[in-house]
Amino acid sequence: MRNTLVAGNWKLNGSKASITELLKGILDGMSDGSVKSQTDVAVCAPYIYIPHVQELLQGTNLAYGSESISEHDSGAYTGEISGSMLNDFDCKYAIVGHSERRTLFAEKDADTANKFAAARKHGIKPILCIGELLEEREQGVTESVVARQLDAVIDLEGVEALADAVIAYEPVWAIGTGMTASPQQAQDVHAFIRGKIAALNSSVAEKVQILYGGSVNGGNADELFAMPDIDGGLIGGAALKAEDFLAICRAGK
Ligand code: PEP
Repeated sequence: MRNTLVAGNWKLNGSKASITELLKGILDGMSDGSVKSQTDVAVCAPYIYIPHVQELLQGTNLAYGSESISEHDSGAYTGEISGSMLNDFDCKYAIVGHSERRTLFAEKDADTANKFAAARKHGIKPILCIGELLEEREQGVTESVVARQLDAVIDLEGVEALADAVIAYEPVWAIGTGMTASPQQAQDVHAFIRGKIAALNSSVAEKVQILYGGSVNGGNADELFAMPDIDGGLIGGAALKAEDFLAICRAGK
């Protein structure tokens, strides 16, 4: 049985003061035992705030990570942050291949695969985001798009690498739009992803957590997380308010 994972993605939001308040609120809300013991919770923060997040979360069961990672270890890559730098602050997770990185910063499948490899090399769990654009769904090519995005990683790192990773299926049309995929729409793609992995390695397919992301909130999380292949969520907007985030953390199996 896989644990549920609820991971917040703060994106380019927050200040030292607001993050302090948000984390205190989440920790307070988690302290009454209302989040199930089989649900893991994490927040992914802007790089600059990671030391502060580390300090606030020391000794708690709230994990944290980064929103991206450099594919390089060191060198002349101005503005980048490497896996060893994230290790210095004990990051457990790094998001790779978020659709905003793919569309706004031109990250290709190969770049995402290299970032995935960099995270693993440093013992950081990549949260690999994959998902189709609205026009791709309308053209009926959702499965081939997510297969291509997944194959870039499998071809570079091997399917076994997914055993130490998290996959987040995030239909791009659902991110930040309020247009959540229906539980069945999401389940269909999750089952496709798990089936594709199972064809290569059934124990990895059983183990890998596949999160859904795209306008998850306290009102729809229960139904989504109840689906057999949905193992939690990657949460954007609703991760910025403690009560909204906690409502999602309390949902699910
Ligand atoms: C995201 O950014 O990964 C995301 C799912 O955002 P939102 O929850 O706001 O749709």
